[in-house]
Amino acid sequence: MEIVLATGNPGKVREIEEILKPYGLDLVSLAHLPQVDSPSETGKTFEENARIKADFYAHHFQKPALADDSGLEVEYLGGGPGIYSSRFAGPEATDEERNKKLLTLLKGVPFSQRRAAFICVAILVTPEGEELKTEGRLEGYIATRPAGDQGFGYDPVFFLPEYDKTTAGLGKQKNKISHRYRAFKAMGELLSRQGY
Ligand code: IMP
Repeated sequence: MEIVLATGNPGKVREIEEILKPYGLDLVSLAHLPQVDSPSETGKTFEENARIKADFYAHHFQKPALADDSGLEVEYLGGGPGIYSSRFAGPEATDEERNKKLLTLLKGVPFSQRRAAFICVAILVTPEGEELKTEGRLEGYIATRPAGDQGFGYDPVFFLPEYDKTTAGLGKQKNKISHRYRAFKAMGELLSRQGY
C-alpha cells in the first residue's frame, strides 16, 4: 500500500528513504504529489506536531501518511529549544546564528550541566484514523565551540563523548545512530509487521 512521506525537505526525504529501504515500503514523497499548503505546526510537543502533519496529509490524499517532528532538548534550558528548535533565533536566522545563541546561553556552564538530546517522533496516520508512533533519541552534550563541517542544524555544537566528535564531525556514521534513524527503523519494523 502506498504511504505518503509527509516531509517537504529533500535532505530528510533522502535520509528517511535510505533508513526505510530494507523494509520494501511503497513510499511517495510530497514532491511527487499535487502541491498543497502545509498545515501550521501548532502543537506543544514533537508528538502533537508530527500528528498534525500525518493527519493532515492522510486526510488530504486519502492514503496513510508518515510524518516526523524533531529537535534539540537542552537540560540546562529546561528542555529548550525543543519544538522551537528551527525558530530559536527568529524565523529568518541561520543555523550559525542559532548555534551562536545556544553557545551564548550556555557560556560558562560546566560540561556536566550541558547534557542535551536530539529527539525525533515519527507518526503514521491512516485515512481511517489509525495511528502508529515511534520515537528516537540521541544523547549528547552541547560543546563550547562549533566543530565539524557535515550534517546540518545543531550538529556542529552537539558533542558525543564516546566518539570525541560533534555529530557534524561524524560523517555518514551519524545516520546509523541518529534520533531519526532510531525512530524510522522502529517505524519500518512496525510497518512490515503490520503487512505494509
Ligand atoms: P524539523 O523536524 O524539520 O522541524 O527540524 C527541527 C529543527 O531541529 C531543525 O531545523 C534543526 O535545527 C534541529 N534538528 C533536527 N534534527 C537535527 C539533526 O539531526 N541535526 C541537527 N539539528 C537537528
